Amino acid sequence: MGLLIDVHVHTKRYSACSQLDPGRLIERAVKAGLNGVVITEHARQWEPAELEALVAQSGHPGFLLLAGFEYTTTQGDLLIYGLRADEAHAFEPGWTPAQAADRVSTLGGVCIAAHPTRAGVGFDEQLLTLPLSGIEVASVRMQPHEQQLAMRIAQTAQIAPIAASDAHRLQEVGRFATEFEDPIGRAHELREALRRGRFRVAGVGARRKSNQ
Ligand SMILES: [Zn+2]
Ligand SMILES: [Zn+2]
Repeated sequence: MGLLIDVHVHTKRYSACSQLDPGRLIERAVKAGLNGVVITEHARQWEPAELEALVAQSGHPGFLLLAGFEYTTTQGDLLIYGLRADEAHAFEPGWTPAQAADRVSTLGGVCIAAHPTRAGVGFDEQLLTLPLSGIEVASVRMQPHEQQLAMRIAQTAQIAPIAASDAHRLQEVGRFATEFEDPIGRAHELREALRRGRFRVAGVGARRKSNQ
């Protein structure tokens, strides 16, 4: 069994749209059967010291807590992993998907297309020309028909499908997750696992269900 990780979570610390109290995130993630969480605030990446402090407070000292960020391009959102916080914060508003993806590649990071088919978020054909490591095909913020369409796009483009909660509330953490095949303890290991496609969609509450 690999590692079950939710790679798309917003907390109210830096995402104004989120009600999720970061102080309760890890406890909730453990209850949901997750082995790890990646906090991906909008246009902001948690510093390593902030992540360490949250883990230290949680009562789960070995819990895998990492950070990426979500960048809103002119035509859809990208989840970005493997950059330093200062590199993340140098992204300027208003870049196209290609501009943002180029910057990520230059800095050695990886991108995933977030909810590409969600109503009102027009990613269109540009999506298929980007150097993506994955396409989000399921989250609590994607309707079933949007999930099906995203899966078809991923299959057609031969880009790895990925599932994550996109949680903005505590109870949403882990509702969707992805299983990673290799041990991951640090940000660069997540980046390499994403780059190499060493993961698969785990479905809704996969581990909890299989344990019952
Ligand atoms: Zn949000
Ligand atoms: Zn999001």
